[in-house]
This record gives sequence, C-alpha cells and structure tokens, in this order.
Amino acid sequence: MASSLARIVALFFPIPLTSDMQGHTPRRRFGQNFLADPHYIRRIIDAVDPRPGEALVEIGPGLGALTADLIARVGHLHAVEIDRDLAARLRERFNAAQLSLFEGDALHFDFARLSAALSAPLRIVGNLPYNISSPLLFHLAADTASLRDLHVMLQKEVVARMTAAPSTPDYGRLSVMLQAKFAITRLLVVPPGAFTPAPKVDSAVARLTPLGAQAPQLDNEPLFARLVSAAFAQRRKTLRNALAACCAPDDLRAAGIDPQARGENLAVEDFVRLTHEVSKVRD
Ligand code: SAM
Repeated sequence: MASSLARIVALFFPIPLTSDMQGHTPRRRFGQNFLADPHYIRRIIDAVDPRPGEALVEIGPGLGALTADLIARVGHLHAVEIDRDLAARLRERFNAAQLSLFEGDALHFDFARLSAALSAPLRIVGNLPYNISSPLLFHLAADTASLRDLHVMLQKEVVARMTAAPSTPDYGRLSVMLQAKFAITRLLVVPPGAFTPAPKVDSAVARLTPLGAQAPQLDNEPLFARLVSAAFAQRRKTLRNALAACCAPDDLRAAGIDPQARGENLAVEDFVRLTHEVSKVRD
C-alpha cells in the first residue's frame, strides 16, 4: 500500500520533494542538479585534496553538498552562487569565518581580482551548471595566471570534447581552445543517479591545470580564437575554404599546413603556428 502510494506520488512529482533538497525547488534555468550520493561526494573531495589555507573557490555551492567537506579540509572557502535563496541558506549554515560568499553570476566574477586580493593562485571547484559550462570555462581560461587548478563536473560528452585528440570525432573548438591553456585529465564518471534531480546524461569530473611556462606563446589570442572558430564552423570544409576570409592558401603552406586538410586534423601547435604566420602577413 505504502509503495503504491509512493509510486503515485512519484508519477505526479517526478522531482522528489524530500529533505535531500531541504524544501528547495530546483531551478532548471540555473542548471540545478544537486549531488546527493556520499560516495561520489567523497571521491570528488579526495580528487581535489584541499589543504588548509589554500585559496579555494567553489562555483555554484547550491545546497552545500561539496561545501561542508571542502570547508572541513581547507578551513575557509570562497564561493560564487547566483541563486538568492540558496545564498541565503548557505549564509545561515556557514559563518563568515568558514565561507566568503559572493552572490552573483560566475560568468561575470573577477577571479583574477580575488586571486590578487588573496595573493595566491586560485583552486576552483564546481559541479558546474551545464547550461553555461563552455562560456564559464572560456571565462576562466582568459586569465590562467591567477589559477592553480580547476576541478569541474560537466556532462561526460563535454569532458570528452575537452580531452579529445586531433582527427577524432570529439575534437573541436573546445578541445583546441582549452588544450592551448591547460593540461586536462578526466578523473571520474558520475552516473545520473548520484544527483537529485537526476540529469538525463552521465557526468564526469575533469582536472584542468594551467600549462604555465609550457603553454604555447600566443601574441595574438583574438586571432587564434578567430582562426580556430572558423576552422571548425563547418567541420567538413577544407581549411582552404573554411579560412578563406582569414588567410590565403600560401599562409597555410608557410605554416606547414596542407590547405586541403580540415580543422579537425590540426593539432594545437598547428593553430599556434598559423596564428603567427597570419599575424606576420598582417603586420
Ligand atoms: N554544488 C552543488 C552540488 O554539487 O550539489 C550544486 C550544483 S548545481 C549543478 C549548479 C549550481 O550552480 C547551483 O547551485 C546553481 O544555482 C549555481 N549556478 C547556476 N548558474 C550560476 C552562475 N552563472 N553563477 C554562479 N552560480 C551558478
């Protein structure tokens, strides 16, 4: 009887209205899928391995699934949360000695300024809202000097694109733009059942470590970004055609690139060489 009642309730309320979410109704527009499985929470915290006194920042703490354990290890945590109701709950649960909470959009948050204020490169952690994952990663990649590392949970497919090698189906703009700045490793896969409400797809946690001195020297980042975008705008086009508006076939040859190749065949270093070549021609 009790179980058939539960089934009827589940039918009408597919998102469980349980104490898991402490009465909070998840907001789809903020990508709210809350981690609920202690096994995965522990594995993520262990992967981050926070140490006391580090400049640790959580993006989107939500109901605090990771927050409490991060604070327990680091002492003091910084966090950015866009949802006003969740921010109010977090302020009730954690005191100012434990948590500095910035209420607002992580896409507009000045991470470099926080790093300067703390005189330390930031460690960023986040079970990221999937609807803004790429722009958020680009925002963070804009200034890697203020970052020590990132541990982010994203859709598994997005992590596959971030880590893909040239000439594979997942290789694209996201792979090139992020691999030009970070060493990226997939650490673990997290199934939908680990979240409330459950997303439709698997998730994965990735570690991104800035390449620092190993990063390719890019004097003209906007041009690099334009060339990469154009090369992947229509994947099946040859570079001769895809890049016709940016450079001539001779520029491609001068960079050691076959104009008949496609964007997906070029490694990050090829795009870097091409950027230098096109910059020279324009100067
Ligand atoms: N960290 C929690 C967890 O693992 O259960 C929540 C993760 S939930 C996938 C994403 C969180 O990011 C939510 O708390 C959401 O309100 C917050 N969020 C969404 N968009 C945001 C933005 N632009 N800036 C900051 N936080 C955002």
